[in-house]
Amino acid sequence: MKITFLGTGTSQGVPVIGCTCDVCRSLDYRDKRLRTALHIAVDGQSLVVDTGPDFRQQMLREYIERLDAVLFTHAHRDHTAGLDDVRAYNFLQNMDMPVYGSQATLDQLAVEYAYALSGPAYPGIPRLTLLPINEDAFTVNGISILPLPVMHLRMPVFGFRIGNFSYITDANYIPEETFERLQGTEVLVLNALQREHHISHFNLGEALETIQRIAPRQTYLTHISHKLGLHSAVQHELPATVALAYDGLQVDIGS
Ligand SMILES: [Zn+2]
Ligand SMILES: [Zn+2]
Ligand SMILES: [Zn+2]
Repeated sequence: MKITFLGTGTSQGVPVIGCTCDVCRSLDYRDKRLRTALHIAVDGQSLVVDTGPDFRQQMLREYIERLDAVLFTHAHRDHTAGLDDVRAYNFLQNMDMPVYGSQATLDQLAVEYAYALSGPAYPGIPRLTLLPINEDAFTVNGISILPLPVMHLRMPVFGFRIGNFSYITDANYIPEETFERLQGTEVLVLNALQREHHISHFNLGEALETIQRIAPRQTYLTHISHKLGLHSAVQHELPATVALAYDGLQVDIGS
């Protein structure tokens, strides 16, 4: 299994339009963060978690020529706004795109993509097959995936576990049952927005406490705001087993 961080930024991305802070003016490529999304290559399958507004740019950058399915964590726009561009894969692969998410997520997609999901099919629209999932494990073309229910203020969000890899974005609370599902995770991705408290995301301190409890071999932090600081400076402060993710980072994860 190989993961690629398509984007590691919070909803506005980094740099933020109009901001002149040190992070937004940084020339370090690791301080350029598109909206959070992940690509997973596993057992010959090509999956993405979320299709934010930068989806097209991300798939071009990473030369991803095939896409077998989309998994959605939740329906916030910074995770869904690029879904229209799966059209490219509809044409290339001559198939409808399987889209997995909670019923609440799919209901929201049905509103936002009504032109594709209801009414007469207009030529050129994205072709989507919505596949509801609940908290039970499910399989995508033979890949077993375990949902990781977490909370994002009052909104239920799914993280996903495949083998010894677990991915959680947009959370500020992890229930006990989900900590049990995380046991044995060797590589973890977790959101850490900024240093200050935030109403719907773990801040850096909360993320580090959560990581201590899960105790993976290696953790990557994602969904990062310009307020967290320069990549190079923040990375110095972190424990040896924790790294800031950055756009384009690839990690090989055993199986
Ligand atoms: Zn988000
Ligand atoms: Zn800034
Ligand atoms: Zn969100």
